[in-house]
Amino acid sequence: KTPILEVKNLTVEISTRGKTLRALDGVDFSIAEGEILGMVGESGAGKSMTGQALIGLLPAGARITSGELWLEGKRIDNLPDRERERLRGKSIGAIFQDPLTSLDPLMKVGEQLVETIRAHRPEMPRAQAKARAIELLRETGIPSPEVRAEQYPHQFSGGMRQRVVIALALAADPKLIIADEPTTALDVSIQAQIISLLKRLAHEHGASIMLITHDMGVIAETADRVAVLYSGEIVEIGNVADVISRPQHPYTKGLMGSIPDIHAPGLWLEQIEGSMPDLADRPKGCPFHPRCRAAMEKCRECRPPLASMGTSDAACWLASPTGNAVPDSLVRFH
Ligand code: SF4
Ligand code: MG
Repeated sequence: KTPILEVKNLTVEISTRGKTLRALDGVDFSIAEGEILGMVGESGAGKSMTGQALIGLLPAGARITSGELWLEGKRIDNLPDRERERLRGKSIGAIFQDPLTSLDPLMKVGEQLVETIRAHRPEMPRAQAKARAIELLRETGIPSPEVRAEQYPHQFSGGMRQRVVIALALAADPKLIIADEPTTALDVSIQAQIISLLKRLAHEHGASIMLITHDMGVIAETADRVAVLYSGEIVEIGNVADVISRPQHPYTKGLMGSIPDIHAPGLWLEQIEGSMPDLADRPKGCPFHPRCRAAMEKCRECRPPLASMGTSDAACWLASPTGNAVPDSLVRFH
């Protein structure tokens, strides 16, 4: 079966002041129909950059220098800007950390929904689009949706606003929703509600999700599979339960080892000691070698490919298809 999304060897470079930095280096993954893929990593690992490349909204100076993006069996990275833009609302919905970036402060939320619905289905009569807008608000759990539809974004709390953004992302019946830290700006008390709402609605609407977060707890509770990013590369990818219980890559092992209880909310990857290499100074060979106790000569020279390790795929010279070949005693950050 064709995956909803296929990302092949995605490489993104950023040019600033005559220098070129590689922000993503040969990223490969796919998302199946109805699947939730978690993307986890420290800040600067390339999570948001991957999402931005998918919706065609890379920051200034950044561009895709190689690789291919396929959505529902159609290549999208080489489409003209206008078609790319159409795709953005229609087939790929986006939810960002700050709901206000997705909302027009001067427009009633019902109107914003109606506009989005009609942008993708111009033949739909206004009254019908309005009814659908109210239905979407109701589905996202907003009380008195008829009244709320007539209000402006500033009249909503942060959590309610993010529900409106979820309604907007679903308005065009997308195949894929990219959610980049969708609850990071919200009160801890409502984060879980918003995540479970997103998960339930995506399922009901038949959309897959790429969930970008640095909260391992959110991944553990929500995602089917997880991709671990490190310095612009995927170092491990596999089923969430496998990666959590039997991580293969030394970085993932260290990550899991440093987390006392994976199911506790609010676990941030930044709690790990040491730091990821600067993009301007990415090491040759394995990107993790400066922090890896198991590093060998080969690791400093050659980049390990992502290869099947039994339970998951990992990019490490030490891991082997029989699994757990990296001795735990060697897994330590320095
Ligand atoms: Fe990288 Fe080598 Fe460590 Fe594996 S053993 S993570 S290839 S440095
Ligand atoms: Mg980010």
